[in-house]
Amino acid sequence: MALFALLFTSIWSYIAFVNIEHQTDKVADEAIPLSNTASQLYPLMIDQELSVRNYVYLQDALSLQQFEISNARMHDVLNTIEELDQSHPIMNDIISNEALPIISEMESFHREQILRIQNGEVDRANEVRNSQVLNLNRLRMVDSKIQSDSDVIIANAFDESEAASNSARWVILIVSALTFLIFFAFMHSFRVERSQKALIYKSLHDALTGIPNRRAFDERLEETWRDARQQNKPLSLILLDIDAFKSFNDTYGHLEGDACLRRVAQVLQRVVKSPAMPARYGGEEFAVILPVESAAEARELAEEIRHKIMGLNIEHLGYHPVCKLTVSLGVSTMVPGLYESEKILIARADEALYQSKDKGRNRVTVQNLK
Ligand code: GH3
Ligand code: MG
Ligand code: MG
Repeated sequence: MALFALLFTSIWSYIAFVNIEHQTDKVADEAIPLSNTASQLYPLMIDQELSVRNYVYLQDALSLQQFEISNARMHDVLNTIEELDQSHPIMNDIISNEALPIISEMESFHREQILRIQNGEVDRANEVRNSQVLNLNRLRMVDSKIQSDSDVIIANAFDESEAASNSARWVILIVSALTFLIFFAFMHSFRVERSQKALIYKSLHDALTGIPNRRAFDERLEETWRDARQQNKPLSLILLDIDAFKSFNDTYGHLEGDACLRRVAQVLQRVVKSPAMPARYGGEEFAVILPVESAAEARELAEEIRHKIMGLNIEHLGYHPVCKLTVSLGVSTMVPGLYESEKILIARADEALYQSKDKGRNRVTVQNLK
């Protein structure tokens, strides 16, 4: 949602900038040149008029030449206006409907005057020499109209350009604020998520050994029990208790005892592979939940664990005659009955563990599949 807002405002900002550029280009490329060119019409027409009047008085070649020069320039100017106004019709009406008819009427009058002089009709030419005053005044008015029209066009373009640049400024402000907010929200949610994860992890793991704790064990056992019941498949539970651990603590101290618990947990982590899960069941007791195909699988795993822990060769001089750390294990395997609870599985594993202890420790006892 926030990303969409950012995208939208960025596009809006881009359009605003393009608009500014367009408005400025329009003023620079169209209105100003057109207005400048159109402003030459009236002075050129005055030039022509004066040249023709001089020609009527003096009947000389120079006046005629001046007329032709300003007439040619007038046509150049008209061509330029046509080109400019054709690609971007800005003052089409005013030029073609008002200026051009006056200009062509005056040009034909000037041509007639020149012909009259050339045909010797000097009196007639003198008689009508002032007849274009009205047209000249009209052309002056058209000229000032062109000027004021182009002034309005230029002013509008600048207004639009300013409005666009104002909106662009707003957009930049909004985009910056949004970017900051998104960044802030992202960082915040990232931190919250991280601390939530850390909290969940802590609540499900044992602080001393780092492996899943009793709460994780209970949840997983309930889940695995339910799945096994649905699929009508067996599952196993291994309970493990360190032998003569009290005397280990008495001999080596509690800190050494803690280190020993960590090493036992490391063995479990290495040996037990997913989907089976090891956990610290409590004190110096550990548990392994594992979905199995047969009771033999669970026994094999329990034996492997026992061997690996003995293989650690942790000295335990208070425990005769072995004199090194060993564990006793109880294994129970069963297919969950419809109305049975997972507590039966625990009770049976506990019973098997008790038997291991009873038979002399450092061994695995299995409660057979029901
Ligand atoms: P057995 O072979 O019959 O299991 O004898 P045991 O001495 O291991 O049995 P018992 O239950 O009498 O003693 C368990 C000892 O485990 C008692 C307690 O001091 C020790 N223990 C339990 N939790 C911890 C722990 O977190 N750290 C340490 N260092 N010792 C612990
Ligand atoms: Mg115990
Ligand atoms: Mg013990």
